[in-house]
Amino acid sequence: MNILDIIANKRDGKELTKEEISFFITSYVENKITDYQAAALVMAIYINGMTDEETTNLTLEMANSGDVLDLSELGLVVDKHSTGGVGDKVTLIIMPIVAALGVLVAKMSGRGLGFTGGTADKLESIPGYKTEISDDEFRNNVKEIGISLVTQTLNLAPADKKIYALRDTISCTESIPLIASSIMSKKIAAGANKIVLDVTCGNGAFMKDIEEARKLSITMKNIGELAGKETVCIITNMDEPLGYSIGNSIEVIEAIEFLKGDMQEDVKLVVLELASYMLKLADKGDDIEENKKKVEECISSGEAYKKFIELIANQGGDISYIENTDLFTKAEYNVDIKLEKTGYIKRINTEGLGKIAGELGAGRMKKEDNIDFSAGIKIYKKIGDYINKDDIIITLHSNKKEEIEKAKKEIINLFEITDEKIEKLKPVIDVIGN
Ligand code: URA
Repeated sequence: MNILDIIANKRDGKELTKEEISFFITSYVENKITDYQAAALVMAIYINGMTDEETTNLTLEMANSGDVLDLSELGLVVDKHSTGGVGDKVTLIIMPIVAALGVLVAKMSGRGLGFTGGTADKLESIPGYKTEISDDEFRNNVKEIGISLVTQTLNLAPADKKIYALRDTISCTESIPLIASSIMSKKIAAGANKIVLDVTCGNGAFMKDIEEARKLSITMKNIGELAGKETVCIITNMDEPLGYSIGNSIEVIEAIEFLKGDMQEDVKLVVLELASYMLKLADKGDDIEENKKKVEECISSGEAYKKFIELIANQGGDISYIENTDLFTKAEYNVDIKLEKTGYIKRINTEGLGKIAGELGAGRMKKEDNIDFSAGIKIYKKIGDYINKDDIIITLHSNKKEEIEKAKKEIINLFEITDEKIEKLKPVIDVIGN
């Protein structure tokens, strides 16, 4: 068997065998095939798709490409993952909440991908916070305080780590088999017993329409079940950024404000839904509406915020930044933008905003690029809001003057304004698999 034949088979639209998929994954992890060969195959998968059987085989090979954690000594672990979005700071908020309510959290988060942000990058914007810790430390943290958030360092799903970074640089992010195998391989390797997935849908997500989002949900749910892990998918709206900030430290600040009780309405609805299903899967209450009340109480009592502080301190983060968010380094250039129009916001090009945030420094253009934690975008008005000509709608934050100048010209075209009244979006669209 050789990689050239495998690439040619997929290029020509053929179904790959289990052995071919296994050969690709093993050889790539062992550096026996080059990045450009892997890129060619990934592009062929992107273009020609995969059958359910191929996607399942790819997922299982990726999950088994490194260690598979056995967390059974800890008890019932429920994991959460998002398919990615713009301004998606839900993990930062939800995990301390459910941990404070007694759900064990042992989570491996990704870095930014394409126009979407990644929780690992956001956490690293907190000075000192270590996302890369040993397997023992990871387990001990969960045992001691009930929560640990790390990135893909432990030798878990190394095939995903390589393919994920590669996809980011060859425009191969929006693909059901590639997303499903990426997420589910990590979830299987990370050892959780049950999984809640936030499947984002809209112009700021990889799945642009509801049918695609449902297809991805069903694919991941089926893979989860095959691996013996009950999986619930919640489809959420990404036709506008979630919350009011897009970036790294500015999203951490928004998450801290939320945990202190200053909750952005759209983030709140998504958090309540996801957290309630996590509680349900963790056998902490079958009634979703009752669970939502527990989540709200956990925030208003300060328990969720306390757990967040504990998490950050336990992984080396400087909690003075959490207690006083003014300490986060500010970008050199902070520029307010008006749209010079009056009316209701009808449409926001959310992917466009994510791309601009990336170009301002919040994301990577190449896999070895460093993130500028202070860069990003604040947005003050969303779909359905009425704006006046003189209202400041956006603030751009960056250390790159030339990118600010470029963004100033582009950003105005990302909003559609109308005279007709427009309804606000519904943040939670559907639940699959409860
Ligand atoms: N999150 C992942 O972990 N992988 C993807 O492919 C997309 C989002």
